[in-house]
Amino acid sequence: LPLSRAGETPVRALTIAGTDSGGGAGIQADTRTMAMCGVHACVAVAAVTVQNSVGVEGFHEIPPETVAAQVRCVVGDIGVSAAKTGMLASTAIIEAVAEVCTETGIGRGLAVPLVVDPVCASMHGDPLVHADALDAIRSVLIPRATVVTPNLDEIRLITGIEVVDDPSARRAAEALHALGAQWSIVKGGHLRTSSSSTDLLFDGDRFLEFSTPRIDTGNDHGGGDTLAAAIASALAHGRSVPEAVAFAKEWITKCLEWSYNLGHGHGPVNPLW
Ligand code: PLP
Repeated sequence: LPLSRAGETPVRALTIAGTDSGGGAGIQADTRTMAMCGVHACVAVAAVTVQNSVGVEGFHEIPPETVAAQVRCVVGDIGVSAAKTGMLASTAIIEAVAEVCTETGIGRGLAVPLVVDPVCASMHGDPLVHADALDAIRSVLIPRATVVTPNLDEIRLITGIEVVDDPSARRAAEALHALGAQWSIVKGGHLRTSSSSTDLLFDGDRFLEFSTPRIDTGNDHGGGDTLAAAIASALAHGRSVPEAVAFAKEWITKCLEWSYNLGHGHGPVNPLW
């Protein structure tokens, strides 16, 4: 993706998500990725997590009206050409984000495309949303998605489908599309059944497949956020959804190759390659 020249204002994107005190996932992954993709990242903090490489110890939610106010404040002044949601912990936050997105022209069918990463839990299984927010993820958030990017655990929680092979992946992509997302992605990275990692993209009509070699590393913290942020970055540069996903798939593969050890648990993928 093109980087801006000295003094030139770069394209802008907005992430509405949670922080990671360990610096690997969430907003830190988003801003690192966007910066490397030639995108100025605006940030609406929706939660502050207390976490390190071992796990999530807790989180503090930002009041819904403060989350929405951050979005309104930057869109009106700075302007963004793509947006992304990550950790939105409660129904009240999801509803506030949905409302401000509609108001500011962000989301499916509106001026600014929206990548919805329906973050539910960390890779360690620590919850990042309240269980009762799953309904709002299904009924309020996903219908606003230009692209929705759940991992396999999130697909199980949201659709009830256990993805184990290609037919179940296709069923899951269809179920996510039926919830209202314009495009759905089923990420095969966590399906350890082949030497490649295949992501399936679906728009209600055709399935597109994106395959890269599987990178086996325990240091994949923040991988989902990084993929979604790379898609948002490419969309901000004006790429189509299939082009953006193709770009992001190559991008995350590099980030996994360059991932590093950190602390005593799982290190992060590395967007700074
Ligand atoms: N923390 C925050 C704030 C996140 O948004 C995410 C991403 O989904 C995670 C943690 C979990 O990252 P991982 O599952 O890669 O450990």
